Amino acid sequence: MAYTVTLIPGDGVGPEIAEATRRVVDATGVKINWEVENAGADVVAEYGTPLPDRVLDSIRKNKVALKGPLTTPVGRGFRSVNVALRQELDLYACLRPCKTYKGVRTRFSDIDLIVVRENSEDLYAGIEFQEGKPETRELIEDIARLNGKRLPADSGISIKGISIGATRQIVRFAFDYARANGRKKVTAVHKANIMKFTDGLFLAVATEVAAEYPDIAFDDRIVDNMCMQLVQKPELYDVLVLPNLYGDILSDLCAGLIGGLGVAPGANIGKDIAVFEATHGSAPKYAGLNKVNPVALMLSAVMMLQHLNERDAARRMETAIAEVIAEGKDVTYDLKPYPDDPTAVGTSQMADAIIARMCA
Ligand code: NAD
Repeated sequence: MAYTVTLIPGDGVGPEIAEATRRVVDATGVKINWEVENAGADVVAEYGTPLPDRVLDSIRKNKVALKGPLTTPVGRGFRSVNVALRQELDLYACLRPCKTYKGVRTRFSDIDLIVVRENSEDLYAGIEFQEGKPETRELIEDIARLNGKRLPADSGISIKGISIGATRQIVRFAFDYARANGRKKVTAVHKANIMKFTDGLFLAVATEVAAEYPDIAFDDRIVDNMCMQLVQKPELYDVLVLPNLYGDILSDLCAGLIGGLGVAPGANIGKDIAVFEATHGSAPKYAGLNKVNPVALMLSAVMMLQHLNERDAARRMETAIAEVIAEGKDVTYDLKPYPDDPTAVGTSQMADAIIARMCA
């Protein structure tokens, strides 16, 4: 069977790692018609927006996309296309498996964690009030009247909302994932001791949902303690489910445990749409140099093959990637003992080595 998948190459190092990944996926033998759609700063002149409707239409039609990173201008310019995509397509779950591969230099071994981050609400909903604006002053007055507490007049305000519906949805996602993938435990991460009406609600709903899954163990951790425990005894944890902000921070912490962004894959998943992308960004300083590590996007593509139920191809592709990393010869600079190691190969040569291994 042939699949049609939307391919967004992205910008910065995106096009190089997307091309390397596409070649490796094609070499698995799974037939994919790649529908290439561009987004980001490079298309603004042509379409007047960094996220043209044709990109969204293509993903809505195909239900599956592989996406390279997209740069978000700092300060001026448009808001993040990455965040807009998640909101437009209601990709409510961010799934980030963090697993150590032999040969990747890291202080930890045998890490095998799954981070499930709520993607739609919390402090990332974009409900913000700028310091000094009339509406901000009005809100400060309303809060004083309704709550009895007065914020300093020179405050900026970001609203944190956590709902029963979105929490139930993300916690069910985490338990369903655990069940489908032979995982043993889900841990809800929160700060319910301080934020009783948001994180407290998250914990209460998570505990309620956990009762629907008696075959999977459940516990919870306060987020600061969780950070310490992940560094001290990560082996105690399995699947973590978190609200948006903590999920963002802890997924980078977990990427650090497994050796960094070059090997950290991810997916943003909604009810019937899934967009697979690396955790890392567009690393602009390396753009066009055929230098960065394509593994994070390749492992995201492995997740995509699993999602398409092409389990055998996914396993073959992951094994070939793992073997090339373990051998340590045809790997990019970041996987060598020293970043300036002259034996490091480029992005596309690493893809060649993985294809050769898979087809051997
Ligand atoms: P980044 O992840 O692009 O790069 C940080 C550093 O990590 C790089 O300088 C490099 O040293 C290393 N790195 C990243 N990817 C690597 C790889 N594949 N191989 C080897 N080393 C790698 O983070 P940043 O510099 O904070 O962000 C750059 C841009 O990317 C920003 O505009 C940001 O908004 C955007 N971004 C996009 C996404 C996305 O598309 N989902 C995610 C994060 C950041």
